[in-house]
Amino acid sequence: MQVFNKISEYQDFYRNELKDLSLGLVPTMGNLHFGHLGLVKKALEANQKVVVTIFVNPTQFGPGEDFDKYPRTLEQDLFKLKELEGAENIIVIAPQSPSEIYPKDFSTEIKVNAFKNIMCDKFRPGHFHGVTTVVYRLFQMAKAQNAYFGQKDFQQFKVIEKMTQDLELPVKCHCLPIARESDGLALSSRNQYLSNEQREKAPLIHETLKELGEVFCKNPNEAIKRQTEILKQDPSWQYLDLRDAYDLSEANSNTTHLVVAGAYFMGDTRLIDNIVFNMRK
Ligand code: AMP
Repeated sequence: MQVFNKISEYQDFYRNELKDLSLGLVPTMGNLHFGHLGLVKKALEANQKVVVTIFVNPTQFGPGEDFDKYPRTLEQDLFKLKELEGAENIIVIAPQSPSEIYPKDFSTEIKVNAFKNIMCDKFRPGHFHGVTTVVYRLFQMAKAQNAYFGQKDFQQFKVIEKMTQDLELPVKCHCLPIARESDGLALSSRNQYLSNEQREKAPLIHETLKELGEVFCKNPNEAIKRQTEILKQDPSWQYLDLRDAYDLSEANSNTTHLVVAGAYFMGDTRLIDNIVFNMRK
């Protein structure tokens, strides 16, 4: 496994060793769990080499969010990657400073205007601009033909996919299923912020999404009523949405692919999750 802190060193390596090989990219903010490792494994199956980036991107955190306390665990992350089968085909880029990605006077932002003012964008204004700008930079630097993302960040995937289509970027984006704990809680680096009591309660997020989606499959109007009740009863839901999984418009009785998505506050910790239902089945 090769590890680079400097983009210029990676780029030399790319020119000498990678440019004729199939290359997959897995962008992460580190603190790797099985969800991230699943993306890396999938990328290793489909590509000769896989670039994993580990970078806590400051521009996707809003004021008062958890940028400072976000877990940075590079040594353990590298250990986990080294343990994977095929680790010799992994290249890690772990910039030690944001200036590696955003040199002095960097002043460009990539903004996708689709999927705006709904779901996470409604409550984290500017978050996706930070995401698309960093992902664009990583695409440009890594030069991979394939990029792997988790369905866990469903709206994020839609936004990145749209950027890729609109700008005709030479990379294929793949969305992989959500890795969960045995009780249904979606794996997330933020789960470690939870107290024992909060951790015990956390599976309610997945359970609620599942139940609401199942109701929608039988009776969409009933599900919309239920959604309103849940939001009224439990103010810890920042949002709980029933949407078309293709265009993220509000779901209705003609919806064929539904995504039930939500953000829930466990104390100060904001957790997101979603489930996609194929209504044609
Ligand atoms: P993060 O480091 O949290 O920004 O996530 C990096 C990538 O891993 C993103 O594409 C996420 O969607 C994906 N990811 C995070 N959690 C999970 C999970 N539980 N299952 C699958 N993918 C995940």
